[in-house]
Amino acid sequence: MRIAVIGAGIVGVTTAYELAADGHEVSVFERRQAVASEASFANSGVVSPGYLGPWAAPWMPVKVLAGLASTHSAVRFGLGALGSPRWLGRFLWACRRSTHQANRRRMQRLGMYSRQRLDLITQQLGLQFEQTDGYLVLYRHARELARARKGLGILDDLGVAYELLEPDEARSREPALAPQTTLAGGLYLPGDLVGNCRQFAHGLKAAAQERGVRFHFGTDVIRMSRSQPGSLYWRETDRPEAEPRLDKFQACVVCAGTPSARLLARQGVRVPLMPVHGYSLTAPVRHREGEDDPGPRAGIMDERYKVSITRLGQRIRVAGIAEVGGTDDLLRDAPVRTLYKVLDDWYPGAADFTRVQHWKGARPMLPDGPPIIGPSGAPGIWLNLGHGSSGWALSCGSARVLADQLGGRSPEIDSEGLGIDRIR
Ligand SMILES: Cc1cc2nc3c(=O)[nH]c(=O)nc-3n(C[C@H](O)[C@H](O)[C@H](O)COP(=O)(O)OP(=O)(O)OC[C@H]3O[C@@H](n4cnc5c(N)ncnc54)[C@H](O)[C@@H]3O)c2cc1C
Repeated sequence: MRIAVIGAGIVGVTTAYELAADGHEVSVFERRQAVASEASFANSGVVSPGYLGPWAAPWMPVKVLAGLASTHSAVRFGLGALGSPRWLGRFLWACRRSTHQANRRRMQRLGMYSRQRLDLITQQLGLQFEQTDGYLVLYRHARELARARKGLGILDDLGVAYELLEPDEARSREPALAPQTTLAGGLYLPGDLVGNCRQFAHGLKAAAQERGVRFHFGTDVIRMSRSQPGSLYWRETDRPEAEPRLDKFQACVVCAGTPSARLLARQGVRVPLMPVHGYSLTAPVRHREGEDDPGPRAGIMDERYKVSITRLGQRIRVAGIAEVGGTDDLLRDAPVRTLYKVLDDWYPGAADFTRVQHWKGARPMLPDGPPIIGPSGAPGIWLNLGHGSSGWALSCGSARVLADQLGGRSPEIDSEGLGIDRIR
């Protein structure tokens, strides 16, 4: 088939690659000048099937309320959130224990499959993306550790390998952790991985091009055609006054992150996507002659602040914060200060701040957790979107599921709950 993919973030690139692997003729439309230029640009890089789960969780409302009084709150609300009471209502509804658990299982099932697909693609193509194995979740307080213990049943059910660590065991896994910061214990996930999502996307783009995928950068998709299903109208981003041009396809897959909602609304397809902004800072490791490496070996998550610290080659990346419904352009001081605080708590002096890069990106977030993969209900239009805080971890599996469905085959995993019916 002749297929268009809208968006060249990590989800669009993996989708294009898998569709081309099935022999389709694929064109990717991307308004930016390179792959992974928006939400996939400088994320934490964590691929953690073991830690995956919806943010809509029974403890979330309390955590949000408690955070309102804290300078280092993990969750903040922008005006966009208050303007979307329907999304907030659905989020609260999805916080019910039974809904949360069902969605967590769906995400972990897809996450485990995605991890396998990532390994396979990496081996087949020999991709390098600063990857290291293992992820350590750190609990500062005994009550956080107790809550984590309660969630271990799902990991057992899914066969996810883990080790619950005493503080000294956690410190021997990550020897540079600051001894003065209180630690109640850790959860080590040896099957998880940390890697540079953007670098992976560039490597996969090259492989996709070798399989015939055409990337059209600097092209903005304006709308999909109603009369010719699968076809779309686009124009070059530097010629906003030009008439949109029609390109004919038999199917089009929408992987456009948060802006997907607006594109789809014009076709009568309602997808409740909220931009949940996050921040990261990336800086080189500050090596000192004769001293041990001062940074993380792989990746850690500070469960209290929901901030991760990951190792990407000779750099450290600190990422986190959920700014629900904020704007792309405004880099606020308070969230950035939280990232510096958490880095200083665990790895003081480890980064060279003279060459630091600050970044803010929008997680394309559905109210309840798992992404939407499959037909949209409108003729010729398919969806692979709404991966929220886990788009990198879920991308390779989601792309394979979508390609199988589009090709009329049953996916290798149970795709129950991943279709658009879930959110109708
Ligand atoms: C701080 C932070 C940390 C994160 N950490 C992790 C992590 O550790 N692990 C993990 O798995 N995930 C993480 N995420 C989430 C992850 O980054 C996202 O889920 C993922 O990048 C979403 O990918 P995407 O391809 O759907 O969206 P994007 O990367 O945003 O791609 C969508 C693309 O569509 C293009 N587009 C939009 N509209 C149009 C149009 N009309 N025409 C043409 N092109 C269009 C955009 O330009 C964009 O390039 C993190 C996110 C943030 C913000």
